[in-house]
Amino acid sequence: MYKKGKLTGVGIGPGDPELITVKGMKALESADVIFYPASKLEGKQEKSFSVQILAQLGLKVSCRPLLIPMNAKNRETNYQLAFEKIKAEVESGKKVVMVAEGDLLFYSTFGYILKLAETENIPCDLIPGIPAFIAAGSAGKRAIVEGANAFEVIARPESFQQIEHALKTDRTVVVMKMSVLNGWDAFLQDCNREFLYAEGIGTSAQFLTTKVEDISDREIPYFSLITFYA
Ligand code: SAH
Repeated sequence: MYKKGKLTGVGIGPGDPELITVKGMKALESADVIFYPASKLEGKQEKSFSVQILAQLGLKVSCRPLLIPMNAKNRETNYQLAFEKIKAEVESGKKVVMVAEGDLLFYSTFGYILKLAETENIPCDLIPGIPAFIAAGSAGKRAIVEGANAFEVIARPESFQQIEHALKTDRTVVVMKMSVLNGWDAFLQDCNREFLYAEGIGTSAQFLTTKVEDISDREIPYFSLITFYA
């Protein structure tokens, strides 16, 4: 059934269009169609971080959004609908690429799409990308982990207590989707760890700091993370 068609997942890195692997770039250039995840709140314009990266690559391939509403209750249905679009293209024999910002299996929509593709025996190739927290290491010019250091990632923390708990160990701790919590200023004042706050890594809006006072009046956007060094 899928004589020629296949799905290739490509991690396109954290924001800088040059932080894509050579293999990923080749897959993008030779695709028949590229799908990128986009979110849309009711009445608002579609938003996509990935399309901004794609737009800088000079591709001649048709790029189409896969709408995944961010705070929708019926997530499963949305993934299924997105998957159906991909499936239809693969079944018609096309080389389909779905991109993911950062790496494609690290807190990414592609992980859900992959499961659906596998249940339907759609051939898949996966090309990893540079995750944002790894890019933050280089941006901050400080080792994320060294020697025998352990490392923990917290995503979408439920409370500051959860982070405090992790910081009681001697691990390096990375918090992603940190914008779900308010009150970072007070928390960082009291915590006894050096940290790097990184926003929009790899984009023209990149902002980095290791000082609490730089964050005090700042609205924390979705594309931000913090690394607490061991
Ligand atoms: N697949 C991505 C992660 C997606 S989850 C990866 O491999 O990095 C989305 C979260 O990742 C954001 O809330 C933020 O914490 C982090 N993130 C992704 N890109 C980022 C960027 N360019 N700058 C800062 N944080 C980023």
